[in-house]
Amino acid sequence: MKRQESTLIEKVLFKIARQWIAGDTMEDALESARQANAHGMNAILNKLGEHMTSKAQVDQTVSDYLTLVSNLRRSKITGGLSIKPTQVGLAISTIECTSNLDVIIEKALQSQSFVWIDMESSEYTDATFEIYQNLFEKYERLGIVIQANLKRTGNDLDMLLKKGAKIRLVKGAYHENSENAYRTRHAVDENYIKLMNVLFKQGNEFAIATHDSKIIDTAIELAKKHERKFEFQMLKGIRDEIKPILVKSGFAVSEYIPYGTNWLPYSIRRLKERKRNILLLGSSFIHAHRV
Ligand SMILES: Cc1cc2nc3c(=O)[nH]c(=O)nc-3n(C[C@H](O)[C@H](O)[C@H](O)COP(=O)(O)OP(=O)(O)OC[C@H]3O[C@@H](n4cnc5c(N)ncnc54)[C@H](O)[C@@H]3O)c2cc1C
Repeated sequence: MKRQESTLIEKVLFKIARQWIAGDTMEDALESARQANAHGMNAILNKLGEHMTSKAQVDQTVSDYLTLVSNLRRSKITGGLSIKPTQVGLAISTIECTSNLDVIIEKALQSQSFVWIDMESSEYTDATFEIYQNLFEKYERLGIVIQANLKRTGNDLDMLLKKGAKIRLVKGAYHENSENAYRTRHAVDENYIKLMNVLFKQGNEFAIATHDSKIIDTAIELAKKHERKFEFQMLKGIRDEIKPILVKSGFAVSEYIPYGTNWLPYSIRRLKERKRNILLLGSSFIHAHRV
């Protein structure tokens, strides 16, 4: 990362953010993935970067993912990829994004790697579902994300379940307006639990992606009633104490591992998720000013 060019606030933020990111390079990501595998978890790798409007940047990202897939296979890493549509062309066009994902998924499948398509802000939701549905007709080992903060998600879940989609349920990391989205923590959590109940009753092969103990405990209870193939997914560097407990209890757990130099937008989302992180940023900033 070009730290010499960064502002003081970026330097302070980077110190906090590094817990969530494997490092700058693909080798850093592979090393984190090996560690995840050694601890009984699958690794889901993501190259940081989003909202790319330059074709050259998009082509470079596609090429990086293809190299990553080869390396996953060579390093015998269990897991797969998670890709943001706007890093492979959705900010250019739906066709550009679909054809780039097609190339990556084709290669990933040859290496037995599962591919997840991340969900970004709501302006991209319709296009992302359209891309997923087109590609899912061709590739079975392909997953999509639904966000509990969006009011539309109950209907989207019904539509996806009818098609047998592989679904990752998250709370939603993007700022949305109150017309589209639930804005209080309570309302988002309530909708998450409602959607999760539907997944356990009607779905199979899905992911409960959260660090929220209350929701994890509810999922464990639901799993006792409904025998389903599902996994827990968590981000690198968050709730590390709970991951081995779930693995030891016999649950499938995957760790989402981002890497690369484009760390700022991802880290800001992680920071905003938790008041304590903002306070940590504040106190680190004051400390950095003193020295
Ligand atoms: C594997 C995975 C993939 C994801 N993919 C997407 C996606 O494609 N699209 C999307 O919009 N969102 C995605 N997200 C992010 C998600 O939407 C939430 O923003 C994020 O998971 C925080 O919500 P939570 O469920 O952990 O609950 P929260 O209520 O935010 O947190 C619950 C508890 O977890 C811990 N915690 C949570 N966040 C942090 C943090 N940053 N630092 C320290 N502790 C923390 C705290 O103990 C907190 O009390 C993904 C999340 C995961 C785990």
